[in-house]
Amino acid sequence: MISIAVVSGKGGTGKTTLATSLFLSLENAQLIDADVDEPNCSLFLDIKTEYVKDAQVPIPVIDSTKCILCGECVKNCEYNALANLPNQILVFDRICHGCGVCSVVCPTEAITEKNRSLGKIFSGTNEKRRFDYGELIVGEELSTPIISTLKEQIDEEKDYVIFDSPPGSACPMVEAVIDVDYVIVVAEPTPFGLSDMKVVVETLYQLNKKFGVIINKKGIGNEELENYCREKGIPILLRIPFDLKIAKSYSVGNNLLKTFPEWKGKFQKIIKEITEEVKNE
Ligand code: SF4
Ligand code: SF4
Repeated sequence: MISIAVVSGKGGTGKTTLATSLFLSLENAQLIDADVDEPNCSLFLDIKTEYVKDAQVPIPVIDSTKCILCGECVKNCEYNALANLPNQILVFDRICHGCGVCSVVCPTEAITEKNRSLGKIFSGTNEKRRFDYGELIVGEELSTPIISTLKEQIDEEKDYVIFDSPPGSACPMVEAVIDVDYVIVVAEPTPFGLSDMKVVVETLYQLNKKFGVIINKKGIGNEELENYCREKGIPILLRIPFDLKIAKSYSVGNNLLKTFPEWKGKFQKIIKEITEEVKNE
């Protein structure tokens, strides 16, 4: 199996369009919509999904009869999810990342854990294509555990798994790309698009990831983004022109391949190149 994540520095660059198009150009593949704040790949697919399970995070429960108020748990919590009050340890459930450090460092075994649901996981198949997505519960902020849970859904029988990553370069994006073989960065050739892409590129360098760029809406903006890629030696995998027909197709929920079936070959070519690069490594 080859795993590929589609990322972008900001929302609205066409990341979902590209992820679903790549997916639909493959025969035996899985698409995971990891943009759990706003999963919308399903709008462009003809795959019926069903609820699978909740995505949960284990949060600490402190037994006040065992707690000696030593403060070790508070001191070791990287996320400031605990507070040391004069007569109790306060747990901020919504900040807790469920790392389990507090229960490990507690000298009196006063900490047990209970699960807290952050989101829901859905899955469906259509012939040899499988689609999974996660959805953050309204009001929740912690999306990373949902992405981790989604990764448990990876179907090893598939030839490819495509991740539609959350936009940006923060923890949710890192969680989506950390284990994949290759990353496709989707960017618009505008000053804003370039600025956001640079942050993503720096993150991918730090993660030591193989990646290439797809330029979407080629024709707006300027050549700076292409110049930047050239200077850095970043491969440009594809240029998609700025075309009103694509925007219209998107706005009525049509996938790119439905409106422009001739693009299928181009996406298959990209996948072939990525496959060769990953296998050669
Ligand atoms: S599980 Fe981790 S994040 Fe949550 S309170 Fe304990 S140390 Fe902090
Ligand atoms: S580490 Fe354990 S004993 Fe110490 S304050 Fe935290 S819960 Fe209480």
